[in-house]
Amino acid sequence: MKTRGNLIVISGPSGSGKGTVCQGLCRAMSGLHISISATTRKPRSGEKDGINYYFLSREQFEKMIAGGQLLEWADVYGYYYGTPGEPVIEALNAGKDVILEIDVQGALQVKSKFPGCVLIFLIPPTRAELERRLRNRGTDSAEEIERRLRWAEKEINEVSKYDYLVINDDLESAIRKVCTIITAERCRPALLDVEMLLQRYRNA
Ligand code: 5GP
Repeated sequence: MKTRGNLIVISGPSGSGKGTVCQGLCRAMSGLHISISATTRKPRSGEKDGINYYFLSREQFEKMIAGGQLLEWADVYGYYYGTPGEPVIEALNAGKDVILEIDVQGALQVKSKFPGCVLIFLIPPTRAELERRLRNRGTDSAEEIERRLRWAEKEINEVSKYDYLVINDDLESAIRKVCTIITAERCRPALLDVEMLLQRYRNA
């Protein structure tokens, strides 16, 4: 009876576990579409074009901006990141809930274009834990980690603009909380075909 999917935005500092939570969501729930972003950052070891990101040159990315192909975009740590719009709209029209794993600047752009979207902020319990996770990941230089920690402080200041805050101290519990939020959002009458439901009652 669902006519259109929900747009769910998950933000949080780099190292907050957004990617792992999204993988967990896909195992735990059906009807989700995880958006693949475009970026000008170079692929990390093991990352694949078209799977983790669409890895583009600055020129290619700027063409997408000029062509209006991005739902939102932002400069994060000196690289461009953005969400290609068409696959998102297609998935929403097919009734899927679309997950965007994007930064705060992008999340606020999405909220102003789609006020009905749901903003979830994911955060580790302490700064020390965030730093530990970034170092253990082993994917970024010490300088890059410092940059990401400074950026995290800026992002955390925006948390009151979000609809939900999930503290990721235990991965399974964080996944359960996000599943619960998505399930609750699916029950909003505005997103259900209420007319179809009423017809069933009238015909009974
Ligand atoms: P990373 O380089 O660690 O993969 O991502 C760095 C940051 O960019 C993360 O905070 C991530 O959420 C954000 N990001 C990834 N894709 C997008 C996107 O399409 N748009 C925006 N605005 N931010 C993104």
